[in-house]
Amino acid sequence: MLPVQQAESIILDLAQPLDKELDIEVIDLLSATGRILAAPVTSQLDFPHWDNSAMDGYAVLYTDVQACSEEQPAILDIIEEIPAGYQPQKTIQSGQAARILTGACMPGGADTVVMQEHTKREGNQVLILQAPKPQAFVRHRASYYQAGMPLLYPGIQLTAPEIAVLAAAQCTQLTVYRRPKVAILSTGDELVTPDQPLQPGQIVDSNQYALTAFVTLSGAVPLPLGIVPDEPEALEKAIASAIASADIVLSTGGVSVGDYDYVDRILEELGAQIHIRSVAVKPGKPLRVATFPRESGHQVLYFGLPGNPVSALVSCWRFVQPALKKLSGLPQEVWQPKFVQAIARHNLKSDGRRESYLWGQLRLVEGSYEFHLSGGSHSSGNLINLAQTTGLAVVPVGQTFIPSGELVQVLVVGC
Ligand code: AMP
Ligand code: MG
Repeated sequence: MLPVQQAESIILDLAQPLDKELDIEVIDLLSATGRILAAPVTSQLDFPHWDNSAMDGYAVLYTDVQACSEEQPAILDIIEEIPAGYQPQKTIQSGQAARILTGACMPGGADTVVMQEHTKREGNQVLILQAPKPQAFVRHRASYYQAGMPLLYPGIQLTAPEIAVLAAAQCTQLTVYRRPKVAILSTGDELVTPDQPLQPGQIVDSNQYALTAFVTLSGAVPLPLGIVPDEPEALEKAIASAIASADIVLSTGGVSVGDYDYVDRILEELGAQIHIRSVAVKPGKPLRVATFPRESGHQVLYFGLPGNPVSALVSCWRFVQPALKKLSGLPQEVWQPKFVQAIARHNLKSDGRRESYLWGQLRLVEGSYEFHLSGGSHSSGNLINLAQTTGLAVVPVGQTFIPSGELVQVLVVGC
């Protein structure tokens, strides 16, 4: 049994990011949500695109207004009105001003904007009642971003703000990593699909659905390959086809020490290198991690997860997700598992022999995290109270009890 940390570091070493040159595709901005940039993006536009006004007011020459006051206002002729979207036609000379609105282009000659509140309009003239600072309220061209500089970098996941930046920068064709493909296999003679009538002794293959959801929410493409009976030939065929079609394979079941647990044997027969056989974690002890070499490109990473639905998902959250995200091209600060310290709101128990993960809800209460243990049985056979899990409280090896009110490490569960 490997300690959790050791298993984690082996898995993360095995999960190598997709290739920046081979594993990419060019996609349109409209379908880029959630995707990960594989190349830097550069815009041909300056930001702001031109000098513009940050206020409703008057565009002036600073030297005309620098000494004015309420008692001795500067009186300027208004020669043009510049709303947003309008291209100024005139150049401001000494003694002149242009009425300007927020976001509108600065006219030639003017270098300063006087806010409306410090002015008084009288017909075609404006009285400037207070001296502004030089260059006040002018947003200078290229002061936010200069055309040709890198705008966004590889490894950035495209969410609403990045999509906004790219749209504004007119970058509509993007080079992103392809989404990793994850094959999902459920092994077990007792399994039926959710739409089949249940005979005594049978169990619904919830893992196929749970793992499909997990993979999708992790930004990868699930390939649900269905139920495979506990027969070596069928299993071998299914695993061979899974490794031929995916970057990662997740199988559930068949990794315990039961008479029908054939996964190990088949992995070896198919030429896998097995890196992990079991981990000192509860739930999820019988975890197989193997790799299959591939002639070109990436090796295939195989996770043989326990069949138990709770164990399978806990293993996914703890071990598969960071590996999957690393492989997807995300940077370490994003793929590494996120732990927070929380106040336990219930007593947390473990046998102390393995690192135990107890499922429940992580809540932010008045600025502090709290961990609320899910009610009901914490047997790995009980799937029902796994719903609404947002955190897994960790009871370390050697510790059997964390009393309510004490601090506990909690793994943040995002999907
Ligand atoms: P195994 O790891 O194959 O020994 O399975 C452990 C337990 O998990 C057994 O009670 C199985 O019936 C159950 N189980 C196995 N595979 C699945 C699955 N795909 N969906 C739901 N339960 C499963
Ligand atoms: Mg089984």
